Amino acid sequence: MHIVHIAPELALVAKAGGLGDIVYGLSKALIKEGHTVDIILPKYDCLQHENIENLNGELDNLAIEEKGSIHTVKVWSARCENLPLHLIETSHPDNYFLRATIYGQEDDTDRFLFFSKAAMEYLLKSDTRPDIIHIHDWGTAITAPLLRDVYRAKGLKAGGLVMTIHNLLHQGVCSPEHLANIGLDPKHYLTPNSMQHPEAPDLINLLKGGIVYADQVNTVSPNYECEIKTALGGCGLHDILLKYDGKLRGILNGIDIDYWNPATDCLLDANYSLQGNNIALVQSGKQANKHAMQKSLGLEVSDRPLVSSVTRLVPQKGPELILAAMKRTLEKGGQFVLLGSMAPEHIFKPFQALQASAKYKGQLAISLDHNEKLAHMIYGGADFMLVPSLFEPCGLTQMISMRYGTVPIVRMTGGLADTVFDVDTSKLPQLERNGYTFEFPDEEGVFWALDRALTCYEDKPEKYRQLMLAGMTQDFSWKHTTPDYVQMYKVALSH
Ligand code: ADP
Repeated sequence: MHIVHIAPELALVAKAGGLGDIVYGLSKALIKEGHTVDIILPKYDCLQHENIENLNGELDNLAIEEKGSIHTVKVWSARCENLPLHLIETSHPDNYFLRATIYGQEDDTDRFLFFSKAAMEYLLKSDTRPDIIHIHDWGTAITAPLLRDVYRAKGLKAGGLVMTIHNLLHQGVCSPEHLANIGLDPKHYLTPNSMQHPEAPDLINLLKGGIVYADQVNTVSPNYECEIKTALGGCGLHDILLKYDGKLRGILNGIDIDYWNPATDCLLDANYSLQGNNIALVQSGKQANKHAMQKSLGLEVSDRPLVSSVTRLVPQKGPELILAAMKRTLEKGGQFVLLGSMAPEHIFKPFQALQASAKYKGQLAISLDHNEKLAHMIYGGADFMLVPSLFEPCGLTQMISMRYGTVPIVRMTGGLADTVFDVDTSKLPQLERNGYTFEFPDEEGVFWALDRALTCYEDKPEKYRQLMLAGMTQDFSWKHTTPDYVQMYKVALSH
């Protein structure tokens, strides 16, 4: 099968969060299975050029009409490892992709509508005839109606189109004018059966357009699929999701186990692996990484428990609960390392205040940025990974942590509930229990899980080792997930 991803992110090249990991890991897994994959991305100025090779002009002078003017687009072909890339560059006066960040600009809607239209135009003009166009979240959702209503008629041949919902919270709600800007008739789409926003009839909901017009839709975990079909988890789209239940499925994300591999990870100070289930080898490797991380972050070099969070520090991720757990860990004499990106000021201020206080010097390190190297150091050196999300479509950090022998402490929601099983309360066999969980997103909940975790680390080393082992022997690779995507592609093709 030939699959073309139209995506706003790709790990190693342009990553903000899990979406980038998934496009990367799934594409590599599909290629390994013998499929052909192409990935279309914006040519951001923040691309990680050190991971891009063979950059060559591929198509010049694509003409994209937007807001009544014609803008030229150049497409570059390139490679990241064995992944073929097609990078969309534009001379648009608003410099849509030259912003130093992937998201978070006031005109994100314009930027991603333009990108989506340019990607479709590229597929048409390059006579690419994919079996499947695979789109991701609200930013590329417009390609679904564009394919059905415009580009098929223009001659674009594509077998089917599937959309992955990585996060239902972001829906691309915008004025109908935005559709007119890219040549679509807003009147046609501002109806309940099309892209009308369920909560504001004068507005367009781009993600809803993806759900309505795609052949197949999936979420990134089975539990999240169930949650979003309820009023509580559906972010206003639950009725639409129930209506289209027949084409919706939940597929648990994988992680790329070659990239996330403590035995070969070149960003770690010490590599380690679970040879012959020898947990002592893992512990000495992790201890070396922990000490190196403590030194590099100015923490006291110690074997006290070290709790961490690697996250976008946004409301979804439960920042108040991270802060509460941080204080609790420090009061109990442990250490905490937080790597948090994209935090708005009202969220990062209290963290900065805590860091500035002399009381916890040597115990607390906070880095408010996106830092791939530090993320790896934390996975390799921390004892616990805290993920107290209010909702979590899948969550990768808990899976990556387990691969590195770092025990997860998570809230039971979305994909976290599909992957982490409480050592004390799960009904699964003891050997399959791999972490600590709590249900209610409040201090009582998170303290209940955290306290048990810290006690286990300090007083029950055998139980802690068993938890490390349970996580490390679990297989979160794409091997299990890829067939589900291929199956979905086949269903989409048969439409
Ligand atoms: P989301 O996609 O909601 O951000 P996921 O858990 O699905 O959350 O995926 C997070 C991915 O992004 C993981 O690969 C994680 O290592 C990475 N990540 C998250 N925050 C940071 C950060 N501040 N610095 C580096 N990597 C990060």
